[in-house]
Amino acid sequence: MTTEPEQTRVRQVRPKTEGWSQKKDDAGRPLLQFASPKRGKPPVHMADLTPEQRVEKVKELGLPGFRAKQLEKHYFTHWTHDPADMTDLPAEGRDEFVHGMLPPLLTEVRRLETDRGDTIKFLWKLHDGALVESVLMRYPGRITLCVSSQAGCGMNCPFCATGQAGLTRNMSSAEIVEQVVRANRLIADGGLGGKKKDDHSAERVSNIVFMGMGEPLANYARVMQAVRVMTDKTHGLGMSARGITVSTVGLAPAITKLSNEDIPVTFALSLHAPDDELRDELIPVNSRWKVDEVLDAARAYFDKTKRRVSIEYALIKDMNDHGWRADLLGDKLNERGRGWVHVNPIPLNPTPGSIWTASEVSVQNEFVRRLEAKGIPTTLRDTRGKEIDGACGQLVATEEDEAVAAVTPLEV
Ligand code: SAH
Repeated sequence: MTTEPEQTRVRQVRPKTEGWSQKKDDAGRPLLQFASPKRGKPPVHMADLTPEQRVEKVKELGLPGFRAKQLEKHYFTHWTHDPADMTDLPAEGRDEFVHGMLPPLLTEVRRLETDRGDTIKFLWKLHDGALVESVLMRYPGRITLCVSSQAGCGMNCPFCATGQAGLTRNMSSAEIVEQVVRANRLIADGGLGGKKKDDHSAERVSNIVFMGMGEPLANYARVMQAVRVMTDKTHGLGMSARGITVSTVGLAPAITKLSNEDIPVTFALSLHAPDDELRDELIPVNSRWKVDEVLDAARAYFDKTKRRVSIEYALIKDMNDHGWRADLLGDKLNERGRGWVHVNPIPLNPTPGSIWTASEVSVQNEFVRRLEAKGIPTTLRDTRGKEIDGACGQLVATEEDEAVAAVTPLEV
């Protein structure tokens, strides 16, 4: 019989970075990019502005302020930016006016479908050629859009394809919102398959997850303006805040800031390891904000908003899927109280060049069982879109994407 502690008996794969080399800073640590590289800014769009600023801009363009309201209706309710649809606006100068308020922001480059049309991945080109993706998914009774908040990502997590590519730039609020508007337009045109006869839910995006490219809390102000527009019932998309999930790698000060906003979005923390020893390697930003600090910030989010927090945990074979880690995670969550959190394990999705794989099913089940035994509600995430590289952590512009994008003219 062995007397060794369980930790030393199990196989422990370390997050070494086979197949690619992680970008390093001058001190040899994994590079973290918080600041957006300087690039030409996208044109200012109505969705970047507050309702008051929109009225000002309309006046600058030579029309009376009330035209802003009409434009809001076209864009946020009918999901159009085509002047031809806007016959309630004066015909003379209409094209220039609409173009000035709603400049084109996203050019569709590619669209990939799977799950018999229930899941669609869009590849968009931004005004400066930067590429981003969004993923639209129909579920019974709801339609979820996974949006990008940055072109690329500066957080450098070795198991995530987006992180490996580095940060190109922050997206503007309107570039974020436009992903939703374009998805709604496609749904209204019947482009999303799979609607069941007995499904009477509205045919538009009902849920948004900030789980596409980028670290939303590293682009805080623009993401928050986008969320305000998404939830504004009179001047925006009128969605419910609880249907919007902001997922973060764990920028503790920004989590605290988010707790103090008046918009109770659903909050998700990508933890992936309950011990700093492993998390330091798996999530480079853990060098700044440690496991206990981000868990405290997450708990404080619950205290402020009374919204149950999600902990995301990618299950990577022999790396972070050990029974003792499930126990430690359960203990760390319970130390901070009961009923405030649930855990969402996600079997790792493969990324190019990585040798890591998802945990075995029996290991996944054991991980869930141990958390549940400690009273933590736990649901394995059903990931969608693996076949089209549209699942969590798989969003990155491939060489093929770049080639198609290069020959796709920008919308003007
Ligand atoms: N930057 C944000 C949101 C982007 S990713 C964040 O880190 O939370 C959304 C989720 O997918 C995160 O929990 C992320 O850690 C997870 N993820 C990344 N790569 C993955 C992979 N290869 N397999 C499964 N999940 C992955």
